[in-house]
Parts: sequence; C-alpha cells; structure tokens
Amino acid sequence: MHARNNGCTPPAKTFKANKQTQKEMITIIGAGAAGNYSAYLLARQGFDVQVIEANETIGIPIACTGILTSHFDTLVEPRKEFIANEIDTARIHSPNNQHVTVRFKHPNKIMRRDILDQNDAKMAKQAGAEYRLGEIYLENRENDGKHTVRIKKLKTEEEYETQTEILIGADGPASRVAKNNGLFGNRKFYYGLQATATMDNNNAIDFYPSQEGIAWVVPESKNRVRIGIAGMTEPHKYFDKFCTKILGENYKEKLLAKQAGPIPLYEPGVKTQKGNVYTVGDAATMVKATTLGGIMQSHIAGKALAKSLIERKNYEKEWRKELGRDLWMHLMMRKAMDRFEEKDYNRLIAIFQKEKNRKILEEYDRDFPTKYMTKLLMQEPGLLYFAKFLLQ
Ligand SMILES: Cc1cc2nc3c(=O)[nH]c(=O)nc-3n(C[C@H](O)[C@H](O)[C@H](O)COP(=O)(O)OP(=O)(O)OC[C@H]3O[C@@H](n4cnc5c(N)ncnc54)[C@H](O)[C@@H]3O)c2cc1C
Repeated sequence: MHARNNGCTPPAKTFKANKQTQKEMITIIGAGAAGNYSAYLLARQGFDVQVIEANETIGIPIACTGILTSHFDTLVEPRKEFIANEIDTARIHSPNNQHVTVRFKHPNKIMRRDILDQNDAKMAKQAGAEYRLGEIYLENRENDGKHTVRIKKLKTEEEYETQTEILIGADGPASRVAKNNGLFGNRKFYYGLQATATMDNNNAIDFYPSQEGIAWVVPESKNRVRIGIAGMTEPHKYFDKFCTKILGENYKEKLLAKQAGPIPLYEPGVKTQKGNVYTVGDAATMVKATTLGGIMQSHIAGKALAKSLIERKNYEKEWRKELGRDLWMHLMMRKAMDRFEEKDYNRLIAIFQKEKNRKILEEYDRDFPTKYMTKLLMQEPGLLYFAKFLLQ
C-alpha cells in the first residue's frame, strides 16, 4: 500500500517510517477526531488501516460546539468548508455580572464539526484507509499477539470477525475498547447539553464558569448561536436556567436543534495501552478539564500514537510528553474551581480584569497553560489565594 499525495498539509513533523511494520493491520474503532486523524497519519505511512464506525454518516449526530484555538491550523490545513465562523473576542463572566473581555491575538475558529470529521476521514481514505460505517465493535480476544475483533453490522444485525495486529480504541468517552481491555479506569463525566438557537449577537464568545459547571454562547453567524452547558449534576435543569437567562422565558421557541453527550474528565491514572491495544482521544479521557474541549487533544494524541507505532516508541510516554502536563494543569484548575463559592469566581474575574493579567489570556493559547502559568503566577500574587482549594 502506498500513501498518496492528497493535497492536504502534511503533519508538522514527518515521521520516519519503519519498513518492518508497514504491512501490519491496524483496526481503529471510531471515526471521530481521534480515529480519523490517527487513520490518516498511519495509512499515509503504509499501514493497512480499517476504521469501524457505528454511525452511518461520519460526524453525525453532532455533539460538539466546535471551538478551536489557532494551534489547530498546525495540525489540519484550515478549509472554509469546515469553518463556520472566526471570532477574536471572548467575554468571561462572573456570577456578580462582571466580565473580562479578552481579544485573542489569533482568532478562534468555530468548526462545523461534522464537516471537520468528514474532512479528516477523506484524508485518511485518500491515504488508503478503509472505512466500515454502520458497524459496531463488540469485543476482541488475543491469540499469539493477534486480535480477533467481533463486529456487528447494525442494519442486518449480522456479526463477523476480523483479525488485526493492532487495535485502537478511538470510540469516545464511554469507550467499549477501553472497558473490554482494562483501560477504562475510574473516570468521571460531565454531561454537555447544547442547542443552536436564533439570537442576534456581536460575534463574541461568552463563557460563564460557575459552581454548576460551565456555560457558553458561541456565535455561528450574526443571528445564530450555539448555546450550551456542561455540568456534573442535573444538566437539564442547568440548561433550562441558562437558556432562560440568555434567551428569555420563551427560549424553547428560539431553539433550532439540540445536541448532548458525555464528556470525560481527564484521569491521569488511566492507562492507554495494553499490549497491542491502545486508546486515544476521549476514549483515553484526553480532555481539558477547564473548558472541556478535546478536539485539539484528540489530534495531538493521534499524532503521538502514529509516531509511536511508526517509530516503535512508547505511546504512554509520547502522548504524555505532548499533552500530559497541560492536561494535568487543566485538571488542577478544575479541581480548584469545583471547590469555589460564588465569591471566588467573582474574585478570579476581578483578577483578570487587570490589564497585565488579561494580556496573558490574549497572547497565549489557553490549550497550553504550561506556557504561561509561571509568568502569570509570578506577576499576580493574588492567584495564590486559590492555592488553598488544591490543598482541601
Ligand atoms: C456538548 C459538547 C460540546 C463540546 N464542545 C467542544 C468544543 O467546543 N471544542 C472542543 O475541542 N471539544 C468540544 N467537545 C469535546 C469533543 O467533542 C471531544 O473531545 C471530541 O469529540 C473527542 O473526539 P474523539 O474522536 O475522541 O471521540 P468522538 O468524537 O466521540 O468519536 C468517537 C466515535 O466512535 C464511535 N463509536 C463509539 N463506540 C463505538 C463502537 N462500539 N463501535 C464503532 N464505533 C463506535 C462514535 O460513533 C463516534 O463517531 C464538546 C463535547 C460536547 C459533548
């Protein structure tokens, strides 16, 4: 099998292909952000890649707001087909109705998530990956280093088995691959609920962190937004309350389509490899615990996985090198915020209203707090007040 030139930007770093491994069969479960990007990177290096996806159409149903910072452009070439909007302003609100306005140095992109997934899958197919849609992974058993994977076709209920050297679980938050192979761990979930709604807006993202979780309003166009919440307890009540606050009592009349899904909280202790079975993306809980975004992390981890398989490197080490410290830092921030009272959110926003602190949010990519945290802590001693929440 030869990788073909598909006209898409190659990943930032080209891997050294290991000739001995080129014919190994790789079965990827799940054609989301993690599965498609891993499939693309592996197929273009000559692996035999098959992707099994439960949905009949890649990317549908959508359960995602699609906000991405500009770092994503270094991974996947931006295309107007999958970009719904570009936004350079965000407001972060406190419970006492104050806010800080952040003007990003590089605008955020709001993705059409279904088209983004389809774009990644197209790159993978052009590189030689084979897709089987409307089929679900049931289980796998190992024999002599090979896995026999049992798959079910959803339309006909017919089951069949396929052999693979490598099995990748890119099957999302409730990953059956992780469960069946002892890689699920003790993960916890947020539950995200969002809707597209008609609402005139001035093209700024609004974030509302609070004791209930996090809520957002993200413009898709000048009169349509994605409005949503993610919470751990009673998400429907929280959604109802938030929509009433933003859209008014008659908010249901303004909702166009609703979407929902679980979001795993990053669990640093979770193992992501057992023999020739790997997990990546939400299946491996690789989500920022602050904003609960995981598209970028799924792509970065997919790249680390491809590199590990191509160069025979240790996957756990590779992805943790790229993402581990940042994901851990997001988790610490989330742990602290989970213990906040209303007054603590007010205090935090007041700290970021100071110009010198706001500038850091404007300049640095929020995906990677390791790049700015030391500077922020050095210049703002007021942040030390929040350290006590980590000690409780
Ligand atoms: C409401 C909401 C809003 C969000 N907003 C953002 C955001 O703005 N920015 C951001 O970065 N992230 C956001 N996220 C998180 C983001 O959607 C995930 O982190 C991302 O989708 C993870 O990609 P993935 O490929 O790991 O998993 P998924 O995208 O969940 O893909 C997993 C795929 O596996 C398939 N699958 C599952 N089980 C099986 C099986 N047994 N057999 C075959 N196929 C299977 C599923 O059908 C699915 O297609 C949001 C999530 C939610 C719920």
